[in-house]
Amino acid sequence: MARAPKVPPDDDVAGSPIRTLAELAKAEAECTRCPLYKDATQAVPGEGRTSARLMLVGEKPGDKEDLAGKPFVGPAGAMLDRALDDADIPRDTVFVTNAVKHFKFEQRGKRRLHKRPNAYEIDRCKWWLDHERTIVRPAAIVALGASAARSLFGRAVTITKLRAQEQRLADGTPAFVTIHPSYLLRIQDKDDKAHEYRQFVADLRSAAKWLGQQAA
Ligand code: SF4
Repeated sequence: MARAPKVPPDDDVAGSPIRTLAELAKAEAECTRCPLYKDATQAVPGEGRTSARLMLVGEKPGDKEDLAGKPFVGPAGAMLDRALDDADIPRDTVFVTNAVKHFKFEQRGKRRLHKRPNAYEIDRCKWWLDHERTIVRPAAIVALGASAARSLFGRAVTITKLRAQEQRLADGTPAFVTIHPSYLLRIQDKDDKAHEYRQFVADLRSAAKWLGQQAA
């Protein structure tokens, strides 16, 4: 396999020689910018068309994603697929990725329990998310959960304060903030789960509606 292009050490994405998603995936596979590469199976790059107008950013790969090398293919991915369908957003029209590209977990016997990436890991991995944004140039981005929002806004944010309204990132890119679909999997109460799911679909619809208005 050809080696990934050498990237500058000063976080200057504009000066990076990486131009394509394939080059980016190779570079991510060799990344040692934070310790998470040590225990994960592989880096999980974002997936989708470079022409996608909407980018969805999650937190990190889960157990299934770590093994498959693809984002959102586990239970949270199935929940996302269902919500996208209900929001009338074809999944193959969006670019899906994560704020952090390696799986973070704690080994408990044979099980690998998900762990939330810390601010340092999110900030170190932002370099790759910035590359994806530079290559795909989405018209709008949806942050799925607090880790994605932390990466995109460069600070900790409260989801409930920002959701349901269009936000702007530092470079002016329109952004929408909602929950991570894995949150829905953890809700035990049936009615609460149904309510939160409807809210999640409504958030996705808001982003799609905004995109539609821009295209009109
Ligand atoms: S999580 Fe991100 S920054 Fe850390 S090693 Fe993996 S690709 Fe690099």
